[in-house]
Amino acid sequence: MGTNYYIKGYDAPIDEQEQNDNRWSPEWHIGKRSAAGLFCFDCGLSLCLGGAKGVHQGKYEWHNECPNCGMTYKKEGLEDSSAGLELGFNKDYKALKTGVSTASSFSFAMKWEDIDRNLEQKFDNDMTVKCIIDEYGREFSYTEFKDLILAIPTDLQFYYSLGQKFS
Ligand SMILES: [Zn+2]
Repeated sequence: MGTNYYIKGYDAPIDEQEQNDNRWSPEWHIGKRSAAGLFCFDCGLSLCLGGAKGVHQGKYEWHNECPNCGMTYKKEGLEDSSAGLELGFNKDYKALKTGVSTASSFSFAMKWEDIDRNLEQKFDNDMTVKCIIDEYGREFSYTEFKDLILAIPTDLQFYYSLGQKFS
């Protein structure tokens, strides 16, 4: 369950049959945000028994409470959970959470310096223009996209897929 983010213009056809575009090119695909299970935002710890690196491996059990502070999950609905974010019910992508809540991860296809270079080349580095777009057509300025990433715990910002084609 996730959402891909691109430099705007990624979907311009690149062949005459118009069957291909740049959506999986690391020049255009910034990365993917995914629902990443329970996280203690106060302690900066994933409740996954495999740790932050294990959240998408599907082979680990989960703690019922934060292993550090003992806080438990206060139930969220689709309007405020990370699953709701990916399903479109939760609109508050900038929300900075506290305690034990559902978190999102972000797997980058593009390095920050390449995001900056691409936006500078294609949009003259204008921070207000909507230069980033998700796979559902929702548009973001560079500043809004930075806020989106800021809401994701540092430990859940993954850079192991840089330069790779993935969806
Ligand atoms: Zn904690």
